[in-house]
Amino acid sequence: MPETMPLDADAIVIGGGFYGAVVASYLASERGMARVILIERESRLMQRASFSNQARVHNGYHYPRSFTTAYRSRVNLPRFMREWDSAVHSDFLKVYAIARRNSKVTAAQFVRFCRTIDAPLELAPASLAKLFNPHLIERAFIAQEYSFDSERLRQLLETRLARAGVHLSMGHEATAVQREIDAVRVCMRSVDGRTTTSMVAGHVFNCTYAGLNLISGPHGHSHASLKHEITEMVLIKLPPALEGLGITVMDGPFFSVMPFPARRSSTLSHVRYTPHTAWIDTPARNPYAELESQARSSRFNYMLRDAARYLPSISKAVYQQSLFEIKTVLVKNEGDDGRPILFESYPQLPGYSTILGGKIDNIYDVIGHLDMISFHTSP
Ligand SMILES: Cc1cc2nc3c(=O)[nH]c(=O)nc-3n(C[C@H](O)[C@H](O)[C@H](O)COP(=O)(O)OP(=O)(O)OC[C@H]3O[C@@H](n4cnc5c(N)ncnc54)[C@H](O)[C@@H]3O)c2cc1C
Repeated sequence: MPETMPLDADAIVIGGGFYGAVVASYLASERGMARVILIERESRLMQRASFSNQARVHNGYHYPRSFTTAYRSRVNLPRFMREWDSAVHSDFLKVYAIARRNSKVTAAQFVRFCRTIDAPLELAPASLAKLFNPHLIERAFIAQEYSFDSERLRQLLETRLARAGVHLSMGHEATAVQREIDAVRVCMRSVDGRTTTSMVAGHVFNCTYAGLNLISGPHGHSHASLKHEITEMVLIKLPPALEGLGITVMDGPFFSVMPFPARRSSTLSHVRYTPHTAWIDTPARNPYAELESQARSSRFNYMLRDAARYLPSISKAVYQQSLFEIKTVLVKNEGDDGRPILFESYPQLPGYSTILGGKIDNIYDVIGHLDMISFHTSP
């Protein structure tokens, strides 16, 4: 009989973004795993996509072309609000405005869609509607949507992980996974390149988002086709006329303004200008290296000029900073903009799973999946 490999941990989670941190804390506190290790290449948790995003707690409105994503947002939002209460900001008015031209939905279709997903929607009062150019905006509505403070989420997660006894291995990068008897070995190195080591666990979860396919092993790659984008979110100071507002123009090559509580600021993003480069995932291109090597010239002026056609007062917004990050999405959702999670296991490497989080709130779809798995842990 082959001997069982002694384990360094019940589970190793690779990637300390929102997904990896929540998964590690769940395994330790909900599933009774005594030894959980979280490996993160940055020196702190949540420094990548979980920080540099639009901070929107989705409530369905954004997805008129993907009923499933809209519906899941409606289901997940109340749970997210309860669990992360002190990180959720609701002290702003959220306006969805429908463009007259080039929009994939009309105002009437948007109203019907919101009714279908049972999302509250009111016609914007004249005082708000008049902010928009009536030649380009068909109608403006008030919606119920919130934003999250990713700094606060990080603090809450750090406390949770400490309480749950999760061991953090910061500044370490997983490079490969290997099959052992009833276990998985994770090979890693310190990011300063000084040390290499490996650890063995019964279960390994790769939650590295843009880095999902960079960890080599007998499993090969994700079965799903992934697309990476180098994105620019611009932090702006809103002019007085727009203070206290979040604004999204639907549904096509338009823009969004959302509060960004982690910096007490607002983001400006634009469907046409926020993605600087995009490519289909291939082993030949490391997304993190691509981001490092890109010239970071801002497209703020293009974003602002186009947004001001619809919302003239935004022309007085003041540029603060650009957040460049990699956004990873499923190619299959190119057409409908849906953001499901991807949870994959591999027959070549039992005990190893990869998890791609589409957006922050559908962490609960991952937890739902994990709830159905029975884990064997060492005594
Ligand atoms: C521009 C943009 C706007 C977005 N807007 C929104 C929004 O408004 N609302 C919303 O809900 N979602 C939004 N998203 C999506 C959301 O940000 C992601 O779904 C979410 O952050 C994914 O979390 P994660 O933990 O999987 O990824 P990440 O936060 O990127 O975490 C992955 C971690 O893995 C680490 N890592 C990578 N490789 C390795 C390795 N080999 N070894 C060790 N560590 C490794 C990374 O350093 C990183 O910390 C947006 C994303 C982007 C980029």
